[in-house]
Parts: sequence; structure tokens; C-alpha cells
Amino acid sequence: MAETALVVEDLHKRFGDLEVLKGVSVTAHVGDVIAMIGSSGSGKSTLLRCINLLETPDSGKVIVNGELIRMKPTRGGHAVPEDSKQVDRIRSSLGMVFQSFNLWSHMTILENVIEAPVHVLKVPKKEAIERAEKLLAKVGIADKRNHYPSHLSGGQQQRAAIARALAMEPKVMLFDEPTSALDPELVGEVLRVMRQLAEEGRTMLVVTHEMGFAREVANNVIFLHQGRIEEEGDPKAVFANPKSDRLRQFLTTAH
Ligand code: ADP
Ligand code: MG
Repeated sequence: MAETALVVEDLHKRFGDLEVLKGVSVTAHVGDVIAMIGSSGSGKSTLLRCINLLETPDSGKVIVNGELIRMKPTRGGHAVPEDSKQVDRIRSSLGMVFQSFNLWSHMTILENVIEAPVHVLKVPKKEAIERAEKLLAKVGIADKRNHYPSHLSGGQQQRAAIARALAMEPKVMLFDEPTSALDPELVGEVLRVMRQLAEEGRTMLVVTHEMGFAREVANNVIFLHQGRIEEEGDPKAVFANPKSDRLRQFLTTAH
């Protein structure tokens, strides 16, 4: 069995009276591609945000690359990460790609890609530029290196965002609906890049509504429903024969 890249164990998260995650557990071994599906509001983004510590889970464990994120309770009863250096380390080992590309608008595409390697990882600028150029070529936008994000199509911006995440050499890539904000004709070019990453053996957790991608690229699909995993398994088997009525309904109404 391959080593684990990401383990989430019995994660709970509430916002006031609303319990958004009610004990979610996910294991990604190195090289796994996990697709996460579910209706709007089911807790998918919150789960990703708890993994990269943009939100602090109320209870449960997150283990990235074998390292347990240590939490300590505060007086108010909330848990917070104990060690800010650990938070930085964990964050830089997770590549995050959001729905809304989140590129820095005042920087060129190349500057966007080298920013974190140079300033966080302290990679020499020349080396960072060489690596960035390779990554931009990989995602098919080498010719856009000196353009500003606003001059690129949505699909090109999202591919730049993927290159930027890859520049940190993350152990796990987290995608939160990376194609949901795109015009339909631009979705394919981003999914092709993601498929290529999967084929290279990258570990990926992908929140998506693209059922074709989930079926063909992921080796595991998780259906989240109201903060719980309602069904999971091999995507081809799960889609062909969903056991849960809720999943069946989700698959017929949403898609
Ligand atoms: P999904 O990504 O599956 O659509 P989310 O994780 O974004 O779902 O949201 C799950 C629920 O948690 C929603 O009801 C949402 O309104 C709520 N929620 C998310 N973030 C916050 C927050 N920071 N404060 C309060 N409620 C939130
Ligand atoms: Mg979401």
C-alpha cells in the first residue's frame, strides 16, 4: 500500500448553530485522485479550508504528509493550531486552486508563478524563473509569461493558477471547483491539464461538478451530503450503481 499523503479523521466543524462537517474522514495515498461531489452547501469547501487551515476544525485530525496538525484549545473553547511554523509548512505542502483564479492582478503571469518560491521558499530568482517557464509550458501558456492576468481568458488564468500552485512543489493539490467559473468552451483545457497531473501520479483532492472527469480520472469519488460522507468508492462503480437514494437523486437532477 502506498504511503498516505493526506488523512482527515472524524473532522467536525460548525459555524454557530450550523454544523457543517459532522465527522468526515478521508484518506489519500500518494498518487490518489479523489473527486468530491455534492450539492451546494454540503460542506465541500469547508472541508478543503479545514485541510489547509484557512478554517480551524472543531475536532478531528488532519495529517498531511505524515505530520499531524497540532491543535490547542483557546479560552473561548475553539481549537487553534499550536505552531504557526507548522501551519506555514503544511500550507506550503498543499497546492490550492480555487474557483476564482485568485491571481495577483498587478503582477505578470511569470511574476505570479515565482512570487511564493522566491519569497517563501527562498529559491534564487533565476532558478525560480527557469522552473516557472517550464511550468507555464506544461500548462500551455508559455507565451503569456509577460502578460497580466486580465489579458488572459479564464481558462488561461486558471492554468496559470495551477502553474503557480505547482511552483511550490506541493505534496497534495487541492482543487475547489476549478472549472465552475469558466465559460463552457474553456472547461476542457483546464480539465486536460488536471488529467495530465493525475497521470503524472500527483495526489489530488478535487471538488468538482464535472462528472466525466470524476468518472474517468479519479480513482475514488466521495459524495458529501449535509456534512457527512453519504457514499464513496470507485467512481465507475459508484456512478453506474449508486447505493444511496440521495446520490441517485443528485446525479439525475444536477447532471
Ligand atoms: P459547499 O462548498 O459544499 O457548497 P460550504 O463548505 O461552502 O459548502 O458551506 C457549507 C455551509 O457552511 C453552508 O451552509 C455555508 O453557508 C456555511 N458556511 C461556510 N462558511 C461559513 C462561514 N465562514 N461562516 C458561516 N457559515 C459558513
Ligand atoms: Mg464550495
